Amino acid sequence: MERGRGADVRTLAEQQTWARAEYRRLDEFRHAVVRDTRTVPIGLACDECGKELSRNRPLYQMDSSPPQAFVECQACGWKGTMIL
Ligand SMILES: [Zn+2]
Repeated sequence: MERGRGADVRTLAEQQTWARAEYRRLDEFRHAVVRDTRTVPIGLACDECGKELSRNRPLYQMDSSPPQAFVECQACGWKGTMIL
């Protein structure tokens, strides 16, 4: 039977194998986001006191448009968000 397949076209099975691997990779990344509870300096100064701001859970970003992240100042306690 003629398959009618071009040389550069994947089969559905090939695409599904890729899609499953990609889903596993994204799922592992989502778990890594949850597990990573570090607080890291971000190289920007606090508008209130001038000390360096930090991000808690540095891989996390809000599901917003544009994407944002929570930031905080450990010196004065200011908390807010930043556009990434
Ligand atoms: Zn501050």
